[in-house]
Amino acid sequence: MKPNKTNIHPYDYIIIGAGASGPIVAKSLASDGYSVLMLEAGLGVDPEDDDVWDPQRWFKVQEDPVIEWGYRSTKQENLNGRTLNMMQSRCLGGCTIHNAMVYVRGGQTTYNYWEQSLGCTGWGYDDLKPLFEGTEQTIGILKGESDAFVEAVFQAAKNNGLPYNADYNTNPTEHGCVPFEFTIEVDGKSMRRTTSYEKYIGAKGKVKNLTIEPGAFVHRILFAKEKRAGKIQANGIRYQNRFGDLKTEYVNKEVILSAGSIASPKILLQSGVGPRDDLEKLGIEVIKDLPAVGKNFYDDLGLPTAFIQKQTLPRQPYGFVTSGIFATDKPDFDPQKPRYADVNMEIQICTSDLPGSPQIGIPYYSIGMAAMHLKSRGTISLSSNDPREAPVVDPNYLSNPEDIKQCIFALKLALNIAWDVALEDWRCFPVLPTAFPLPKAGGGWDWHWLGIEKTFDEYLENYIRNTAVTIQHYIGTCSMGTDAQSSVVSPDLKVHGISGLRVIDASVAPTPITGNTAGVSYVIGAKGAQLLKASK
Ligand SMILES: Cc1cc2nc3c(=O)[nH]c(=O)nc-3n(C[C@H](O)[C@H](O)[C@H](O)COP(=O)(O)OP(=O)(O)OC[C@H]3O[C@@H](n4cnc5c(N)ncnc54)[C@H](O)[C@@H]3O)c2cc1C
Repeated sequence: MKPNKTNIHPYDYIIIGAGASGPIVAKSLASDGYSVLMLEAGLGVDPEDDDVWDPQRWFKVQEDPVIEWGYRSTKQENLNGRTLNMMQSRCLGGCTIHNAMVYVRGGQTTYNYWEQSLGCTGWGYDDLKPLFEGTEQTIGILKGESDAFVEAVFQAAKNNGLPYNADYNTNPTEHGCVPFEFTIEVDGKSMRRTTSYEKYIGAKGKVKNLTIEPGAFVHRILFAKEKRAGKIQANGIRYQNRFGDLKTEYVNKEVILSAGSIASPKILLQSGVGPRDDLEKLGIEVIKDLPAVGKNFYDDLGLPTAFIQKQTLPRQPYGFVTSGIFATDKPDFDPQKPRYADVNMEIQICTSDLPGSPQIGIPYYSIGMAAMHLKSRGTISLSSNDPREAPVVDPNYLSNPEDIKQCIFALKLALNIAWDVALEDWRCFPVLPTAFPLPKAGGGWDWHWLGIEKTFDEYLENYIRNTAVTIQHYIGTCSMGTDAQSSVVSPDLKVHGISGLRVIDASVAPTPITGNTAGVSYVIGAKGAQLLKASK
């Protein structure tokens, strides 16, 4: 593909969103000589602000109301009517500015499933591997170092049947325990968060052929009025700049949506691309009836536990404790033959000495379980045809009855590890949940709990419904696939039935990956850049 010399507008490409994926696409297109405009609703962050860049302060940056979109879920019927804070960052860097920096590619079997079972040609692990390696080299990945507490956690995991895994990112299976990798770099004596924005674009935002406009809130995508032979062509965008002025910008080649799993479907819907009935009810002109826009919203579910420390824990320079643990609830699991979604739980440990973390007046650590590959799916929809209104976010957690069983299994595993003898020197007493094991005559444990429930499973089910939280691994709302009924984009990330419009961000992931979602967002950015390079 060569830059167009007969351009009539200032920009060949317009990219919406400068989060994890957008900057990778922007840098690639600009380096190929195209003129690119990248619009980001948020502003820049101070490259010297330790509250942003010091990995230990990741709770602090989440408190910043300027960069938080402030989305809340609808009442979650299966979480006892609770509404959850669905965090999303609004700034140059997107969610990589306030995420927890754990780096996980996401499981080789996940990507092979996309290619082999969903027809997403070119998305198998072997195709993506060089792209993972390339983004990792540019963004910078740090392998966490173990310490006495981490070793005790790993021993507890081993006592519960989880083997040591030399490398969860490059081994065929993630199953087992090994220190986490992080999107962190060592800067002199201190550590610093890395983001694709800083590494691909640079803090000063100076890249030849690339114009970055922060504070630009995109309302909708525009389409060529003339629908020749039913052809629909995206040709520009309407946005509000940081001074509140409404602006229109047209494009020579393509509009690229990289606004993340909540905002990308929202912008499509506001632009008239989505389920016909929903759009017509809100008085939005239907440009393209695409039923899958905003459907298939997926998030892992977080199951918390917390324990008062018996002794001071080693300092945790990475934010999270570096004890990476991935596990399966499949009784027939064969580590030699991993298949899609065999590994479906990840344990993340955090300590209360991190600035901004929830305090209870006494030091504690939490052993959180992320239940992954759940079956429930939710939606992103609109409440009004006003683009300034927040979208309706309904994750629909635990709507599939299979999921609560998996969550109970996952929480039991976390509790068994937490209460293992290997952690006796570190654990004092539990804060959450208030369940504890006592030795059983003849060996083993009996669980006891403070509650009226008759069985332990019943107790855990109520506990999960009362305390489960989002893990902020949103994907799937503009999912990739081969047909326009069940998916939004084709495997080359073009919106079905529309020319000049692609989605390149976490929202295109058709099924959950096995792990945290920044890695997959980076690789989607790199794959999108590769596809754009190859087209025409
Ligand atoms: C609190 C938190 C912790 C997390 N921890 C981890 C972790 O430890 N490890 C991990 O791998 N993943 C983690 N994640 C998830 C990961 O960061 C995201 O999956 C990833 O950043 C998604 O990338 P993206 O490019 O799809 O979207 P984003 O990074 O969200 O970027 C989208 C960008 O688009 C902009 N935008 C949205 N709407 C508009 C509009 N209308 N006009 C203009 N711009 C717009 C947004 O402001 C944002 O900057 C975490 C997420 C959160 C919220």
